[in-house]
Amino acid sequence: MNIESDFVMTINGESVTNDSTLPVYNPATKAVFAQVPDASQAQLDETVTTARQAFKLWSKTPVEERQAALERFADLIEAHAEGIMTLLTREQGKPRAGAEWEVFGSATWLRATGSLRLPVEMIDETEERRVTTRHTPLGVVGAIVPWNFPILLAIWKIAPALMAGCTVIVKPSPYTPLCDLKIVELAQQVLPPGVLSAVSGGDDLGKWMTAHPDINKIAFTGSTETGRHVMRSAADTIKRVTLELGGNDPAIVLPDVDAKALAPELFWAAFQNNAQFCNSTKRLYIHEDVYDEVRDALADFIASNIKVGDGAEVDTDLGPIQNSMQYGKVQGYFADCHANGYQFAIGGEIDDNAAGWFVPVSLVDNPPEDSRIVREEPFGPILPLMKWSDEDDVIAKANDTIYGLGASVWGKDQEALERIGSQLEAGTVWLNEVHQYSPFQAFGGHKQSGLGCENSLHGLMEYTNWQTTTLNKIHA
Ligand code: NAD
Repeated sequence: MNIESDFVMTINGESVTNDSTLPVYNPATKAVFAQVPDASQAQLDETVTTARQAFKLWSKTPVEERQAALERFADLIEAHAEGIMTLLTREQGKPRAGAEWEVFGSATWLRATGSLRLPVEMIDETEERRVTTRHTPLGVVGAIVPWNFPILLAIWKIAPALMAGCTVIVKPSPYTPLCDLKIVELAQQVLPPGVLSAVSGGDDLGKWMTAHPDINKIAFTGSTETGRHVMRSAADTIKRVTLELGGNDPAIVLPDVDAKALAPELFWAAFQNNAQFCNSTKRLYIHEDVYDEVRDALADFIASNIKVGDGAEVDTDLGPIQNSMQYGKVQGYFADCHANGYQFAIGGEIDDNAAGWFVPVSLVDNPPEDSRIVREEPFGPILPLMKWSDEDDVIAKANDTIYGLGASVWGKDQEALERIGSQLEAGTVWLNEVHQYSPFQAFGGHKQSGLGCENSLHGLMEYTNWQTTTLNKIHA
């Protein structure tokens, strides 16, 4: 199979196209380099019908066989890793290191999720009766994926859904459909027809999926705004939903840090994947005693180490913004900072004539708490740094947001780290580290950052109904 061309949908194990297509851009050059089918509603209906058909057998397939299929899927991804990484950089913009992490991470996640087993809970076992609760698969799952980690965030849905015994229809983001179409096509070598399908199209396709009466669950990663639409639309059929949404993660820096040593870690906390990351540090609260030192160490680190450019070039650290829509949004945050007279410690000026959607890494020096750059999720490489002095006050500020995805605290005083960390309202709290994920670690958001979780046994259970069976042995 040629990974880098011939992009097709997969419906019931077959490659499917459509006369109507959507362009795919390379964000480093703004040039269209591929077309994908723009699925019709009839094609979605057919996909759902065949996924329902496939569910009958797949849900009864022994769990060991499902695990073996996931392992072979992981092997296929690794065998084609080189082509997939090149394609990922071309459509998403991320440099090689990020592509490697995502592609090999996807294989790791498939294997690890395959090792999970759903428990059967014995509630009561006496001479007279037995009561058990088990987990049964939900049915057909619609997996709706964003453009920042197109492969990994698809796998975070595909792997548990298949292990639970569900069948899956993947809808990639219209901005980054190529790798998802290819991995689903690859998976046909190890899965029965209809078990894993992929349809490409615009946002309307997502709406049709969330309203479809024969899709039982939507596993969604994307913005909080779209998450609200998904939840509303799912209400009509009481569809199950898992929502992984936006974030505005705070990081709190204590007064006892070594500014120079910490700067690289804080940098990557905020700017990994060019800050197009739900869990990027998006507000950096630095204790006033070390504020100037940490700000200057961060700015120095950026100035002397970080190259923004085409992800396909070997020395690039951060790629472009992934698409023109997001580029426009990020420009808006820069314009707002300038209009309000906020100072930049580094960066601040976007070159609109650049070849791609490039944005310089930028630090905003102590903007007010009610500024847009502090309150909202920029999803681009512009980070506000704020001063703090009172512990209760900084905790209140960190929590004063509709979001609750992640948070971190940095310092040498372990007691203070744990004391502050325990008061933060977030699905994941990292102490002296950040972005540590595991297939065995529940991941999800508090407040408007989401509903439910992915990964771990908790995430696997979200693809199931629980079912309690009671047996009266006396009448047996
Ligand atoms: P988005 O909400 O615009 O799109 C996500 C997906 O939803 C795309 O596939 C899109 O086509 C589809 N979609 C759009 N409108 C829809 C509708 N009405 N019904 C159904 N589907 C629809 O998000 P994005 O811009 O691709 O991604 C960026 C956002 O995702 C950021 O807010 C980021 O924080 C969030 N995100 C969250 C996580 C997490 O795990 N919590 C991870 C990555 C990204």
